[in-house]
Amino acid sequence: MTGTHIPGTSTTAGQERHFQGVPISEIADTFGTPAYVYDTDELRHSYQHLRDSLPAAIDIFYSLKANPNISICGYLNTLGAGAELSSRAELETALRAGVAPEDIIFLGPGKTEEDLHACLDAGIHAVVCESLEELHLLDALATERQLTDVQAMLRVNPDFHTKGSGLAMGGKPRQFGIDAGTLRGAAPELARLCAVRVSGLHAYMGTRFLNHSDVVHNTAQILQAAEQLSTDLGITLETLDFGGGLGIAYFDNEKDLDIEALTAGLGEVITPFATRHPQCRLIMELGRFLTAPAGTYVTRALYVKESLGEEFVVADGGTNHHMAAVGIGSFVKRNFPITSLTHYHEPATRQYTLAGPLCTPNDVIGKRVSLPPVQAGDLIGVERSGAYGPSASPVNFLSHGHPAEVLVHDGKAHLVRRRATVDDLLEPQHLIGF
Ligand SMILES: *Cc1c(COP(=O)(O)O)cnc(C)c1O
Repeated sequence: MTGTHIPGTSTTAGQERHFQGVPISEIADTFGTPAYVYDTDELRHSYQHLRDSLPAAIDIFYSLKANPNISICGYLNTLGAGAELSSRAELETALRAGVAPEDIIFLGPGKTEEDLHACLDAGIHAVVCESLEELHLLDALATERQLTDVQAMLRVNPDFHTKGSGLAMGGKPRQFGIDAGTLRGAAPELARLCAVRVSGLHAYMGTRFLNHSDVVHNTAQILQAAEQLSTDLGITLETLDFGGGLGIAYFDNEKDLDIEALTAGLGEVITPFATRHPQCRLIMELGRFLTAPAGTYVTRALYVKESLGEEFVVADGGTNHHMAAVGIGSFVKRNFPITSLTHYHEPATRQYTLAGPLCTPNDVIGKRVSLPPVQAGDLIGVERSGAYGPSASPVNFLSHGHPAEVLVHDGKAHLVRRRATVDDLLEPQHLIGF
């Protein structure tokens, strides 16, 4: 199925945006719009920059939550990333993408017995248990299956306050993990385990960190807390996942993380720890940082209209595919970087409010965005959109369905998810007789 294509809008070569040499008009004509376009050069750049700067003792795990597309997961795995995931579908995605079971961890506060069985079936590195009840359930299931030496990690809700995250995940009442205070006295509980061995700890402090010293500060606290807890619990730390949540700049008032300063600071706290625990596998888990810069949400302008002095571009896709653009972590609406992909190199001389096709006034992706003059048929791109895109958006709102996803790799555009059809939306439904 092709998306909206308005003929007669051919673009002058050289003006439009290219992805690895492929003009966006060609991608849009081939796969339709709206679509997400991902670029492996950008994925590699994000991963490799971090990999080359981080201490070698740290393994990078990709958090599939940020972008669960199987080709994205597979590509990051070829670069060396493991997988951190939270559902059976994500587990299956990682396995099919080629991630080795020993490079997979499964976390999440609400794992079902089916989830835990799937982890045992796959033989993943560790289940990250988020309560002592879950740990005992895993132990019971593993015992029933006559397994031995199944590794589990415990997610800690540390009792210090995090610095610097827009969305703090620890240090306050949370449904995630086990309070550090509870864990300190849990040695007798661990002694009751039969088939499961607690082999490590996990802590995740939040997302969208943009200040390197906050990450370093939090990591130092986690390392210290983990060391103390492992002593209290009488366990050897074989794995320690100290989270991640590195941010990227979306808005005018934000700046990208200083990776050199971050990795230098992390080196200072990691190196002495790694020396004391040479057998401990250190994991940093990241979603947004790895995929966000590599994705562009591509829509086609259907109508350009004016209302009471404000100019609107109505495009064929909107917040149904890109909920984050409505505003994240703030009550003040700020715009993602939005560009005319058709007139990519022209000066932005006009201001438009960019709306989608939904019948709700909230379907606005950008307010008073500076763009070159826009005509119906032009392609508009929301940049830095490779994380928390369609999978974190109400794609079925007004039954528009999931957009196409395209991965540009080695100078060629590949369809990595086809757009939802009307049948995809109707097939699971039942019309009963009246
Ligand atoms: C969401 C989440 C991540 C990924 O967060 P990013 O900010 O995308 O890197 C990692 N770990 C846990 C536990 C999460 O909940």
